[in-house]
Amino acid sequence: KKRLEKFNRPHHRTCCTKGVIMKGHSKRLKFVRLTTGKNQYQQTVPNPHRTLLTTHKKELDDSIFADLHRSSFSDVDSTLQEVVGTLDNIDAWTAPKKVPVGGPQLSADTDSLYLVPEPLGVVLIISPWNFPLVTSASLAAALAAGNTVIVKPSELDPTFSAVFAKLVAKYFDEKEFAVVEGGIPETTELLKERFDHILYTGCPPVAKIIMAAAAKHLTPVTLELGGKNPVFVDESADLSLLAQGIVFAKLLNAGQICICADYILTTPSMKPKIIAALSSAFDALGDMSKVKENARIVNDRHFQRLMGLLQKTKGKVAYKAVGEISQADKFIPAHLIDVEAEDEFMKEEVFGPLLPILSVPSFDAALDYIKRNEKPLAAYLYTSNKEQSTRFIKETSSGGVTVNGIMTHVFAPGLPFGGVGNSGMGRLHGKYSFDIFSHEKPVCLRSGLTYKNIL
Ligand code: NAD
Repeated sequence: KKRLEKFNRPHHRTCCTKGVIMKGHSKRLKFVRLTTGKNQYQQTVPNPHRTLLTTHKKELDDSIFADLHRSSFSDVDSTLQEVVGTLDNIDAWTAPKKVPVGGPQLSADTDSLYLVPEPLGVVLIISPWNFPLVTSASLAAALAAGNTVIVKPSELDPTFSAVFAKLVAKYFDEKEFAVVEGGIPETTELLKERFDHILYTGCPPVAKIIMAAAAKHLTPVTLELGGKNPVFVDESADLSLLAQGIVFAKLLNAGQICICADYILTTPSMKPKIIAALSSAFDALGDMSKVKENARIVNDRHFQRLMGLLQKTKGKVAYKAVGEISQADKFIPAHLIDVEAEDEFMKEEVFGPLLPILSVPSFDAALDYIKRNEKPLAAYLYTSNKEQSTRFIKETSSGGVTVNGIMTHVFAPGLPFGGVGNSGMGRLHGKYSFDIFSHEKPVCLRSGLTYKNIL
């Protein structure tokens, strides 16, 4: 509470007067803008966000390893990419955009029309544990838009959370960007405060708590959630490509990824071929419990949750990868499970190295199954059939789609990332993030004024 009192809101309410635009914006932008590499301050005033990431890459990577027992999967690099992209574009994004005058209107041809981006105020970013740094990367856009920012990392990453809080306190003025550590009680307290935007990444049930708290203050929210991401595999699919995608997704962070393949949908004749292809791909890797950098299950609760799912399969395990299940080491090897629609596995997001495979009679039945369930964060299709690709994209709804790949659309820098329906609302990445943290204010200047001559 004490720390929050120090948090100053940007003076955007008086943005229309020349003095305040200069004062308010230049103050906000100083710590990001002066370091775009395009101006004289570059050498003397390095951007603190970029410096924090480049100088402390190892410390950040080590903290992620301590909590998640995995080597860094470009955690620092992709966050840095977001920061550098923001710095490179900040001038263009923050500039007023001229809008043509035209059509039937009250406004005259001599008027000048603009869209002027202004900061929203104080932004709260609540992050999950699985990619603690990457899921808060859009704080670069929130700062660039002129907001002050609080990040609340997950309590399930205590090492990362402490390191990040320490580094942010070292490189930023606490009145502009601060980290608040803690779990449910601390987040509950935080949510009593009034924010101007909340970005929450996590699961749908908690998102409802966040949204209800935000509603009390009419605070807009962006929700980046999860769900059951289907992978439909048809008769024409390249199974070696499928095996490559599944192995990558299920080994990276032990499948604890929001855009991971959650389950495979396929026809009965394809099922044994898929099991054979995936089994030999996993077998080729050997015992992953011996690989130090191979991610483990995050904590005992999640280990027990996954073991509970396995115990309910009643002999439906079609394949288990090499390696012993170990509670002490929180290691579970990859499993393929031959499921039916009513099985427990098909009710909740799996979020782990277990992969259910469900048979459906046809492509149409697969589309029906996907449409009957909540809209997933991602949907995948393996096929060489162009018509089926078109139908899959047009007839199912999801946050995003990759055809003949897993998760690839999310790594494409030009595409936004976000869910739809139960998998979330709002889109992130670069300019898309800048837009959710800004209000693009329509401005009409009359009497021959233009933006240039009032600045
Ligand atoms: P979570 O919802 O349990 O926790 C996320 C954050 O919310 C944490 O910071 C936590 O402290 C806070 N929190 C938890 N319970 C709360 C409560 N009752 N009140 C207030 N705050 C609370 O999620 P998680 O287990 O950390 O992450 C896993 C989920 O996140 C999965 O569903 C996954 O799909 C999703 N996810 C989505 C994305 C995305 O970008 N769409 C990315 C990563 C993870």
